[in-house]
Amino acid sequence: PQTDTVLSINNIEVVYDEVILVLRGVTLEVPRGQIVSLLGANGAGKSTTLKAISGLLLTERGEITRGSVSLNGEAITNHPAEDIVRKGVFQVMEGRRLVEDMTVVENLRLGAHTRKDRGAINQDIEQVFEYFPRLAERAKGLAGYLSGGEQQMLAIGRALMARPSVLLLDEPSMGLSPMLVREVFGIIERINREQGLTMLLVEQNANWALHLCSYGYIMENGKVVLDGTREELLNNEDVKESYLGGG
Ligand code: ATP
Repeated sequence: PQTDTVLSINNIEVVYDEVILVLRGVTLEVPRGQIVSLLGANGAGKSTTLKAISGLLLTERGEITRGSVSLNGEAITNHPAEDIVRKGVFQVMEGRRLVEDMTVVENLRLGAHTRKDRGAINQDIEQVFEYFPRLAERAKGLAGYLSGGEQQMLAIGRALMARPSVLLLDEPSMGLSPMLVREVFGIIERINREQGLTMLLVEQNANWALHLCSYGYIMENGKVVLDGTREELLNNEDVKESYLGGG
């Protein structure tokens, strides 16, 4: 395999409830320090692909029934979610999953609950506040009262507090105004550039995702139908027509 592939998925098949075949042989690779995007219509299997990596699949009666997932060359196929989190792979869920009756700071501290380095934890909170000044303004406010965009920021911030080695982002633009989409994607790009954090980004917003990533995959019906570098995909006629709003 390539020397610096962090995450690789090799021809996986995923079944829910033992009978519903959702992924029909998906293969993809995420190189260290890069943003890879995974695009496709509703129901194509993008979220399922992320859950197959993070282990969350198992909590939804799903299973990888063929193929393998590996992290730094080590097989993690069907490993439980807590093991995968311990290895540094974090999924920021669609719908955010914050603790709504806890404050912004408390939610950030929750993200760091496995860490013991108090000083560094406080520094990381300051770093999250620097990325997302809106969260700093609402530090003592309850997460449940944040706007959708602020909740998305907090979900990303909370994942960063765990000092992940890989971040799996499920539709960070969902439900956000165009201005907030720009802001959130700007920060994602900055985190990748400054921290070298590896990311796999699932998006409906193909335009943004393609501009951010170095490499992309397009899924349809449980399969990868096209993949290529950012430039290849941005210049591809089918991509332009189907995903970028016409040539
Ligand atoms: P979306 O953007 O709508 O989330 P997606 O590309 O992420 O789309 P998935 O959420 O992975 O697609 O869903 C792929 C298929 O798997 C869909 O047909 C969906 O109904 C089915 N599916 C997803 N989760 C489950 C589940 N827990 N049990 C059964 N079927 C499921």
